[in-house]
Amino acid sequence: MKIPARSAAWLLLATCTTALAASPQAASPVAAAEIAFLDYLDAVGGVAFIESGKVDRFEDRNLADWQRLAQERRDVLGKGLAEVSTSKLAADDARAVEAMRKSLEALAADETTAGVREQTCKDAARHDADFGALRAALVSCYVEFGNRLQFEGGVVDRGSALQLLHVIPEPARRKALFDAFVPLWTALNGRNEADSAYRRMIVMAAADASERGSEIDAAARAIGVETGDIERWLVQILEAWRDASPDEMVEPWDYRYLNSAANRQLEAKIPAQALLPANERFYRDLGADLGKLAVVFDLEPRPDKSPLAYTDFLRRGRAVGSQWQRPRARVVGTYPTGGLYSLNELVHESGHAVHVSAIHTRPAYMDWPDTLFVEAFADVPSWSVYEPAWQRRYLGAAVPAATSLRSLFGDVMLDVSWALFELRMLRNPGADPNAVWTDITSRYLRIVPHTEVPWWAMRVQLAGNPGYMVNYGLGAVLTAEMRARTVDAIGAFDAGNPRWYGWLSDRLLKFGSERDTRSLMQDLLGRPLSPDALLRQIERCRVSGLGVGARGQDAPP
Ligand SMILES: [Zn+2]
Repeated sequence: MKIPARSAAWLLLATCTTALAASPQAASPVAAAEIAFLDYLDAVGGVAFIESGKVDRFEDRNLADWQRLAQERRDVLGKGLAEVSTSKLAADDARAVEAMRKSLEALAADETTAGVREQTCKDAARHDADFGALRAALVSCYVEFGNRLQFEGGVVDRGSALQLLHVIPEPARRKALFDAFVPLWTALNGRNEADSAYRRMIVMAAADASERGSEIDAAARAIGVETGDIERWLVQILEAWRDASPDEMVEPWDYRYLNSAANRQLEAKIPAQALLPANERFYRDLGADLGKLAVVFDLEPRPDKSPLAYTDFLRRGRAVGSQWQRPRARVVGTYPTGGLYSLNELVHESGHAVHVSAIHTRPAYMDWPDTLFVEAFADVPSWSVYEPAWQRRYLGAAVPAATSLRSLFGDVMLDVSWALFELRMLRNPGADPNAVWTDITSRYLRIVPHTEVPWWAMRVQLAGNPGYMVNYGLGAVLTAEMRARTVDAIGAFDAGNPRWYGWLSDRLLKFGSERDTRSLMQDLLGRPLSPDALLRQIERCRVSGLGVGARGQDAPP
């Protein structure tokens, strides 16, 4: 996932509205505000980098220095924006100012997620917690419990556990690993009582959504359809998957394993130390040299590290004299075990990083576009790792496409299921989440009902950012469209294509927050978005008796 720069409490303190004379260097008050905007975001980036725990100092400043600088720069920016709000602006300047305000609102909203006070998982039990505090407390549960799942006498983090569920051969051990999530699930959803922490939170989320719109409404708006259309597409996709899959019902702890013969057949080829070099080589072959783009990778384990992988701006891009200084990205992730699942995630995060690096626009737009678009684009390169052509070139061995794509789309269908789950929970927040999840997963993924366990609660986003999963579930529709259109235009890119980065930068990436998903996709495709490209990909993993057997046994090598 990508996240906006995490800000601290002092962000909200800046309320100064006094007008200020334009800086003498800037051509206009709007240009001055835009430079202040970049300066401020750079300070926020410095704070977030040090707070992530990777470094104590960045560009000769410690955390307190960056925080002080961010506060000062926020004041300057506040004054600059106050001044332009009183002047009559040309249409393009007015749009630029609006874009800056939107970026700043997103930062501030992110702050309410983080909570003014540091929350612990215990705080989730407090019935006086507000929406922001409760979400922050639930996210802490993922750190406190999710980073320390007890399994076979040792400790495993949640991300690694999900990866292991694809590869552990013995059903009883998979069941034991699945059960290792119980303390986390209990922290989030108690015994599924109507006022469990999650169920209180989703009621607040629905109330918030009715006032301000949900992530799902935002995604619908971003592609110019109704929320009801999204539900229809999600169901259509899940039905296509069901039709392409074996008839047998499977246990939830077996679902990933049975769909991921490819992960196991390639496991020996993807040790942890192979991830980064394969990733770098692939992007270099796509014309996006991660070293030259100066992407910072933070991949070493640390006890209090973020429970999920993310990518953020480290520094915004700007013109320095006549030179363009590219934006810089940093990638945070932890991959102790290697494997296809981790590889896919690393290539996805690096997709965010090259997106950041490609943004080349006026300062007001030096930010992420719609989250839906951002997540969908990052999968354009990451889906390639499931293609035999990619595997042959970067791993030296490949599995058949049907087997490999089943592994990809088995996981994508969980995302689609979570998107549908959140859509339905936000529409009817009093519903029993275990029942909603069981209905979806038994109907479309043919997973044996277990209404007694909230096994839907495997993703941090469900607690920290309710509705966010639509960006993955629906994002798959956009990803399939972007991949198909790119191949039509410049040829295959799964095994590299030096035109890839430049072609996509010009058409999709360089605009930053200036353009919305709908216009980007319309211009790329020359028609409205449709789920057909994704449905065609799902068809490629139809069970044919090869690759994955009815019971998911591996094909002979
Ligand atoms: Zn992402």
